[in-house]
Amino acid sequence: MKKILIIASHPDDEVLGCGGVIALACRKGYSVRVVFLAEGVSARYNEEEFSSNKVIAEIDKRNKNAYKALDLLGVSEKEIFTSNRYCCRLDTLPQIELVKDIENHIEDFKPNMVFTHSGDDVNMDHRVSFMASLAALRPIKSQSVSDFLTFEVLSSSEWNTLNPFKPNYFVDITEVLEIKINAMQLYDKEVQEYPHSRSPEMLTALAKYRGSQSYFNAAEAFYIVRKIKNSI
Ligand SMILES: [Zn+2]
Repeated sequence: MKKILIIASHPDDEVLGCGGVIALACRKGYSVRVVFLAEGVSARYNEEEFSSNKVIAEIDKRNKNAYKALDLLGVSEKEIFTSNRYCCRLDTLPQIELVKDIENHIEDFKPNMVFTHSGDDVNMDHRVSFMASLAALRPIKSQSVSDFLTFEVLSSSEWNTLNPFKPNYFVDITEVLEIKINAMQLYDKEVQEYPHSRSPEMLTALAKYRGSQSYFNAAEAFYIVRKIKNSI
């Protein structure tokens, strides 16, 4: 059975980046684990407010939304790992902390495929998550992982107009596009009105654009960092 590990900085990145693939994988009976490296709320507040009941309640709500969204996509609750690390501050932590966290999940879950952020995103947490994943997946011993890919996240990847996401792997998500958008809408505070890029219209537009690059009605696009096969 295939096992897919998603390393995401914040709850909602997994749906934006590969919600379609998650839904397809779950429908096929694959095992999917989602690991968040940070919460996604505290960056909106001053540091003095981080321990306030309001911020703690919002972090809790965001995590609950993650469980709801991933349940809709088909992920088992026991394969969802939230984090209390402060968001937009992952670059202030020793990299080894994140690398060890990812290594432990690889050791425990033994995934075949790993998806994480693009290293060119505007969001620094996304970049740090990519670098930590790259380090955790370094090929120094026999690993279960044969496919290591990055995804694009609207309101981060496309904002780097100097170095936009350059996909080389496309997956037809036509049959699950609606469920991906419904899952995103469960993150009620993160969905915005068009023309914001986290609007249902823009999720659809990106899926259609990536579809047009691969001749599907709707697609998710990825970049293959490494693909390993033991035979041709
Ligand atoms: Zn994010």
